[in-house]
Amino acid sequence: MSQQGYVAAPPYSQAQAGMGGYSAGFGNPPPQSHYGAYGSPPQGYSAPPTGVLKPPASSSSGMPPPPVSSQYGANIQQNGAHPHSFPPPVASAPSMSPYGQPPQSAFYSMAQAPPPTQQLTNQMSAMNIGGYGQRPMQVPQSPSSSAAPQQYHTSPPPAMGHPPLSPPGQQLSSFGSPPPMATMGSVAAPPMGMSGPPGPGVHQPPLGPQGYPQQPGSPISGPYGAQMAGPQMAGPQSGAFPGGFPGGPAQMAGPPQKKLDPDSIPSTTHVIEDDQAKRGGQVYVTNIRGQVPPLVTTDFTVQDQGNASPRFMRCTTYSFPSTADLAKQCKVPLAAIIKPFATVPKNETPLYIVNHGETGPIRCNRCKAYMCPYMQFMDGGRRYQCGFCSCVNEVPVQYFQHLDHMGRRMDLYERPELSLGSYEFIATLDYCKNNKPPNPPAYIFMIDVSYNNIKSGLVKLICEELKTLLDRLPQEEGAETSPIKVGFVTYNKILHFYNVKSALAQPQMMVVSDVAEMFVPLLDGFLVNFQESRAVVNNLLDQIPDMFADTNESETVFAPVIQAGVEALKAAECSGKLFIFHSSIPTAEAPGKLKNRDDRKLVGTEKEKTLFQPLRGVYEQLTKDCVAQGCCVDLFLFPNQYVDIATVGDVPSHTGGSIYKYSNFQVEVNGQQFVSDLRRDVEKSIGFDAIMRVRTGTGFRATDFFGAVYMNNTTDVEMAAVDCDKAVTVEFKHDDTLSEESGAVMQCALLYTTIGGQRRLRIHNLSLNCSSQLSELYKSCETDALINFFAKSAYRAMLNQPLKTVREILVNQTAHMLACYRKHCASPSAASQLILPDAMKVFPVYMNSLLKTPTLVGSTELSTDDRAFHRLLVNAMGVEETQVLLYPRLIPLHTMDVSSDAIPAPVRCSEERLSESGIFLLENGLSMFLWLGQACPPDLIQNLFNVPSLGHLSSEGQMSLPVLDNAHSRKIHSIISSISQQRATSMKLLIVKQKDRSEMLFRQHLVEDKGLHGGASYMDFLCYVHREIRQLLT
Ligand SMILES: [Zn+2]
Repeated sequence: MSQQGYVAAPPYSQAQAGMGGYSAGFGNPPPQSHYGAYGSPPQGYSAPPTGVLKPPASSSSGMPPPPVSSQYGANIQQNGAHPHSFPPPVASAPSMSPYGQPPQSAFYSMAQAPPPTQQLTNQMSAMNIGGYGQRPMQVPQSPSSSAAPQQYHTSPPPAMGHPPLSPPGQQLSSFGSPPPMATMGSVAAPPMGMSGPPGPGVHQPPLGPQGYPQQPGSPISGPYGAQMAGPQMAGPQSGAFPGGFPGGPAQMAGPPQKKLDPDSIPSTTHVIEDDQAKRGGQVYVTNIRGQVPPLVTTDFTVQDQGNASPRFMRCTTYSFPSTADLAKQCKVPLAAIIKPFATVPKNETPLYIVNHGETGPIRCNRCKAYMCPYMQFMDGGRRYQCGFCSCVNEVPVQYFQHLDHMGRRMDLYERPELSLGSYEFIATLDYCKNNKPPNPPAYIFMIDVSYNNIKSGLVKLICEELKTLLDRLPQEEGAETSPIKVGFVTYNKILHFYNVKSALAQPQMMVVSDVAEMFVPLLDGFLVNFQESRAVVNNLLDQIPDMFADTNESETVFAPVIQAGVEALKAAECSGKLFIFHSSIPTAEAPGKLKNRDDRKLVGTEKEKTLFQPLRGVYEQLTKDCVAQGCCVDLFLFPNQYVDIATVGDVPSHTGGSIYKYSNFQVEVNGQQFVSDLRRDVEKSIGFDAIMRVRTGTGFRATDFFGAVYMNNTTDVEMAAVDCDKAVTVEFKHDDTLSEESGAVMQCALLYTTIGGQRRLRIHNLSLNCSSQLSELYKSCETDALINFFAKSAYRAMLNQPLKTVREILVNQTAHMLACYRKHCASPSAASQLILPDAMKVFPVYMNSLLKTPTLVGSTELSTDDRAFHRLLVNAMGVEETQVLLYPRLIPLHTMDVSSDAIPAPVRCSEERLSESGIFLLENGLSMFLWLGQACPPDLIQNLFNVPSLGHLSSEGQMSLPVLDNAHSRKIHSIISSISQQRATSMKLLIVKQKDRSEMLFRQHLVEDKGLHGGASYMDFLCYVHREIRQLLT
């Protein structure tokens, strides 16, 4: 078989808009309107292709696939070695599935070959609650980073040509001593209590005797962990975790344990380093179905050859179980995290734009999926079978192309939609509201000019910044100016609109004091082109701080402000974004008026959830209005006290908006951070008035969606806007058996308006494997994606259930997932051994960290607004963001090599890793700390702070890091700036000295330690989960 085609890269060098070379008059327009017709019943093209057939393959189109283009380089040869690489050649068989290959599981496993099992035999056997104290600890000899992981890795993958060894993990290695207890025969074990709640939903309370044992009367917390033996857990700990860890009397006995070596439990930093070492710097080619991408923390380059880049889509597992029963049994959620507008690095190819002219994109008649690599052409190219619903469609006459001897279209590599995982279609008028092309979007800046904001200098700062920022509005590629129009509103109890028409000498203010019936008092002159109205706008921005300099007004409205923005966009018939700069709870008499409902007495009770439930009514209606208009709301909050973020953040979090919070704002302290956030937000790439639909192959479907989105029905994901940072997590459920042969295919189609006012469809396709072997599923899991799903689903569940229940479900499901692996995939081994799937070996540390997040931990010491804020942030996060949030980077700086560009390797997030003589940088994407050990070298302090010793640094308070002219200072600033560039929001650097009071803020991010506000240490959690697993298996 010729491998030529798989080596070749598409030579998409022609002008993008002309891709395919179709002129506008080609073919018939589709017979029906597509806008709003997502999910409509299947409608065929009304007429079969008529007219003149395109001449049979001309000499040019009949040429073999073009040679490798320079942009891809030649290093993709290796992929030719995989004959199943997508799309598979099909000789003729018209009824064959898109993947005309036999199941490839053995082969695929070759491609990945991760060590199948993580076995923690030795030290974990010490956790054996019956047996401890009776045998010596078996601690791995070397905790060093290079040696430790290898100790866990077992035998190599099966050799080529051999059938896959049924369950992996049976290579019980020789390390570890014979277990002290009878070996558990996993095969003979009674069925696990996994049938529990109907459906694998995360949110049902655990049922059945095998669930989380909530035994009234048993000790609240017990010495379940080895080092916990003996003493009871102390006060605040109990109850902070789901009812504390119940410990049975049996566990209370026994002598105190030796402390386990923390190096012996799976390390996130090792996993990240290993993946970086193995896959970093490489080209990841997306031509293999079910291929697990490098970790989100690894640097790699993506080459699209038929599946969407992992930057756009990541999955919890790349091998779906073939039946619903298997899915239910393992309880591993099946989900994709989709970031449709993810930033593509400069060295990767931007999305190609396909223009099919007036006919618009080609879609399956039945399921409406868009033309993509999973469509299988047949009948000499006259028909194609849909890879999603299997419907056989006629190829529209203008799209006809002959097939080569392998059944592939001759133009395969000339068409992005036939050969790539991601691309865009220019949408026709049928995809536009009212069949009219949309207007370019508008940005409206709405500034709270009440007393606090004037006094703090915030209003002046915003106005100054806007003068330069408005020159940096997003532009269409190659354009000189931005098509985005701008408008300005100031408000306190009333609203002020400004006419900034270019013809005016002075801006004009129009006041609306009747906030109950919001209207926009002027149409002409409110939304303007900044370049044209620059003089008037700048004049206005100069005047605003002075106009309100003497204000005493401290009351504000809020809902009418959003209403005014929506009305203005409605009048201008465009979509857009509101930038609202707001500081206080809106108590003025107006719709959406709020009162303080921050009742900390509710924390820990059944009613705690009400703190996070937004007030409905006015805000619910506002959300609907915003989404209908394509009005995204970005909220910049500057609170000095409670502002009810759960409610004021509700509209932003359903319109694809962002929420920023700067508590106790002071220009000198937070000004720079705010300005950086505002700049990035204004400049970032974004699409408007978006509607997303995720289609799947037969046998499964998208059932739930998490993100800053609005759902009016069960399938259409509406986003007033979607930017490069927003991710939607989609959960899938089976509704039939999946075919191992065809795998599980999905297509995300996002219809949106560009900043230039063009309607487009962005398509992302992804194909996964299916298997009746759960071992395949566990092998193809991605922990970072799993934890993103769990975080979002738990944060939603807490609106309807007590937090305690939510936490219990999380722990319960963790144990179930791992117990199922143990039972079905790992080889028989002693019950005292904790055995984790290799791909999930650090899942427990992430899960424990999630349980300790301020939102879930439930402590009266935490501010309700902070918890609500955190909740809304996570809801919109992608995998990259949740990963670093739940496992921050802790970087030792005292070891840095000032002559190298490299950032020192992070260490585990635990107090034990700190050293008194060290300096550490910690970041989690939202906060950044510089921790100074008490004994850190004076010369380093001198180089970084220009003072002779630590004692000369002001203690509590606002220390800052000066920019100094020496290698250490330059290096640390370069590290900080390189980290900042990777993150979606700017992080304010907080400098803390060891033993200072502010050190607490830093310590709460040491996620392997016991939580400051409750929650277990990693070690304790692992021991607890291990015990749960054992209960499930017996
Ligand atoms: Zn279809």
